[in-house]
Amino acid sequence: MIEKELERLINTNIPLIVFREYDFVRVDCLISSVLGQYELEEWNPSAGLVFFDNKETKGFGGLSLEDYLRGIANNDYAKERYVVLKEVQGLLDNPGVIYSLQLIAQRRLYDASYNTSVIIVCSVLELPKELEKYSSFLELSFPDDETINGIIDSHIAINKYDKSKFNDSDRKTLLISLKGMSEYDIDRVLDMAMSTDGSLSAADNKMILRKKKEMVKRSGVVELIEVPDGMGGSDIGGLSALKQYLQNKSKVFKDIGMALEFGVKMPKGIFLVGMPGCGKSLCAKVTAAIFGTPLLKMDMGSLMGKYVGQSEENMRKAIATAEAASPCVLWIDEIEKAFNGVGGENSEVLTRMFGYFLSWMQEKSSSVYVVATANNAEKLPPELKRKGRFDEIFCVNLPDKKEREEIFKVHINKLNGLGSAPTEDIDYGLLARNTAGFNGADIESVVNETVEYLFLDGKKVLNTYALLNTAKNTISISKSCGKQIKEMEQAFAESSFKDANTGKVKNRSDE
Ligand code: ATP
Repeated sequence: MIEKELERLINTNIPLIVFREYDFVRVDCLISSVLGQYELEEWNPSAGLVFFDNKETKGFGGLSLEDYLRGIANNDYAKERYVVLKEVQGLLDNPGVIYSLQLIAQRRLYDASYNTSVIIVCSVLELPKELEKYSSFLELSFPDDETINGIIDSHIAINKYDKSKFNDSDRKTLLISLKGMSEYDIDRVLDMAMSTDGSLSAADNKMILRKKKEMVKRSGVVELIEVPDGMGGSDIGGLSALKQYLQNKSKVFKDIGMALEFGVKMPKGIFLVGMPGCGKSLCAKVTAAIFGTPLLKMDMGSLMGKYVGQSEENMRKAIATAEAASPCVLWIDEIEKAFNGVGGENSEVLTRMFGYFLSWMQEKSSSVYVVATANNAEKLPPELKRKGRFDEIFCVNLPDKKEREEIFKVHINKLNGLGSAPTEDIDYGLLARNTAGFNGADIESVVNETVEYLFLDGKKVLNTYALLNTAKNTISISKSCGKQIKEMEQAFAESSFKDANTGKVKNRSDE
């Protein structure tokens, strides 16, 4: 509970409490409910110094933040007082402001006669390093199912909509989509949904998902990825063991209540390590499709902030967003880019982020299924690879002959589906035999380029010969990055990861 957390910080004398949040109304309610009995005042860039309760000016029109904080820092004041600074991010690079905040913090900690604490509330915040040791970050949690249902009911009541027309299935559909949004955002989208015809139903879900996508994107830490309608296991060529594994997990995930009751453990996720262009990202999308959940993507590179506490805060926020949006699949792309440096020089931030991530994975009880992908796992800390974190680690190799046949089929069948490129009988065996060393992306490009060539040449039928001809002129990944591919093959052969195609550990036979 966020109230308890704020109380805890107050009781432990944290001098600077920081909310990175744009829902000011909710933060105000929270501050009033926990600190309402104390003296409270607010400074914001629009009105300057105001009473916290009614936002009326406190009689110092035009008082700058620097002057205001200097006064607070230097004047003795024994009464317990909380000063709320809103949207001051653009003013925190002023040495005078930083100095006064340091002084307030130090007096709050060491001067028994001084009792002022500062609460900073900003929608985007880069906290200066000098203030790090005095600060603690707090975050509003996303509303739970009960609260969301309450908000839905209040919108139905306010709009005088006939409640009997809003059935259980409407509610279930909207509830899943509204998870992971703030109360403020839920209010806005429900207003929008009901503004057109005063009704609310599962039909509004498309609009809600569109808005949610924008909101999640605005959070800057995770992205909602669109999964094409009708996507499924048949979109992946080869990788049979992995596909089977995911199908089994999806049965558990879809019936998680019964499964847990039966004693099945909550699925945590998988780690896919493998060659570039061999379908790891595709597998993340297919996982969400067969689990029937949204797909959130966490890009480790973009979590790394340059300011104090920002990276850890971003990670916490990303995980909180995923938890609130659960059930969902959380795709962590290029996990090695963030965690390769753990344990090295200047890696305190990384090590803290890594520790946070590991303990979340270890203790995770929410239905967030993690799909982490990496090209290289060699330099990743061993703690990440041991059991207890991911349910399984799969190694995705270059496709063998049978897999290449299947990948050709997947992409050629897609063309048939579009009705754009009629095919004659294709000799898939011959294609596969002539494309050793190609990855899935190479094969997809052979198909697409051939279709384009046929179109430009005025031909209507896709044939084996044309495909072979394109393949002959294609520089496969094994040729363009031969050295790296060999090294990766060697590393995978020595690893103890399961092969995503055979399900076996270590050496498998190709061709
Ligand atoms: P990277 O490590 O470079 O990010 P990746 O392993 O995530 O690569 P994807 O992005 O999933 O690779 O695949 C690249 C393209 O190749 C996709 O468009 C995908 O459709 C196709 N592809 C790759 N592998 C397969 C496969 N096994 N079956 C069908 N298509 C595939």
